[in-house]
Amino acid sequence: MPDARFLVVLDADSTLIRNEVIELIADEAGRGAEVAAATEAAMRGEVDFAASLRSRVEKLTGVPTTAFARVLARIEPTPGVRELLAAVHERGGVVAVVSGGFHEILDTIAPDLGVDVWRANRLAVSDGVLTGAVDGPVVDAEGKATALRAWAADAGIPLSRTIAIGDGANDLRMMAVAGLGLAFNAKPAVRLRADVVIGPVDLREVIPLLP
Ligand SMILES: [Mg+2]
Repeated sequence: MPDARFLVVLDADSTLIRNEVIELIADEAGRGAEVAAATEAAMRGEVDFAASLRSRVEKLTGVPTTAFARVLARIEPTPGVRELLAAVHERGGVVAVVSGGFHEILDTIAPDLGVDVWRANRLAVSDGVLTGAVDGPVVDAEGKATALRAWAADAGIPLSRTIAIGDGANDLRMMAVAGLGLAFNAKPAVRLRADVVIGPVDLREVIPLLP
């Protein structure tokens, strides 16, 4: 990421895309509603994110990796996402995505949308099915803040020229570290602590805030 002027870091689920991917994968296990309720509690900040994620991923046990194609077909990019990413690039910025979701899905979506770098969790797989475990350390709120700091340092961008955009409680740490923290499509706890709250679910609303 040489010579970038600024860095925009987006959350994935309910920010870059309209969906919560873990719910779509849970649908494949017939446990969508149960996982959706647990995800909602985690996004509101009512429970520890990493513990909640591990317990939700357990419910995905047995889903075949061939189901990812059906999950990908259901992904809905957030309105305005391509316009925002094009505007960031036009102005000499870099776009990153950090997700408490999964590389297995993000590795297809992110390059398709024009994201420059991304980081997420990995689902453990054995014999072509999910084992119900997370592979490696969980990308939680602190993990998101760490990713933002690392990307900014790599590109020689001061934190004052970073923007973090998210909807969930696990986005608050990176929003606090960034020069500008934007609550987008966000839970009440996130709106309260953001520098700017964006109401409409349209990422073009971010364009006038770019440096
Ligand atoms: Mg989210």
